[in-house]
Amino acid sequence: MEEFKKKTCRKCGSQENVKWGKRNGVQCHRCKQCGFQFTIEVERRARVDECRAITLHAWGFSFRAIGKLMSYHHTAIMRWINERAAKNDDNLPLIDLEELYNFAMSQKKGKEIAAKIELLMKSQVNPV
Ligand SMILES: [Zn+2]
Repeated sequence: MEEFKKKTCRKCGSQENVKWGKRNGVQCHRCKQCGFQFTIEVERRARVDECRAITLHAWGFSFRAIGKLMSYHHTAIMRWINERAAKNDDNLPLIDLEELYNFAMSQKKGKEIAAKIELLMKSQVNPV
């Protein structure tokens, strides 16, 4: 996935930087000019989407349903989940159901999934 990545330092505008470890699984960069440490927007956003997808998958939503909700092709969702499983990455922060519900509600095609998430939330509060 070679997307456009903004690697410019937010502090001094320099494009010269080096990889500088990871924070919560997100690649950090350090500016060679001023030493400012930052993450790249695209990577951070993809990471959040990944967490959402994996959490939804854990709750039993299908790749297609998740893809439709998040406007990704379902094979992308499948790849994220497989990659995560292969890496055995336990650092992944799972997303709160309420947060997922709000996210689904904010999406054009999210009403159906939001309704299902709402049911999940209710069933957690009142176990049958
Ligand atoms: Zn800088």
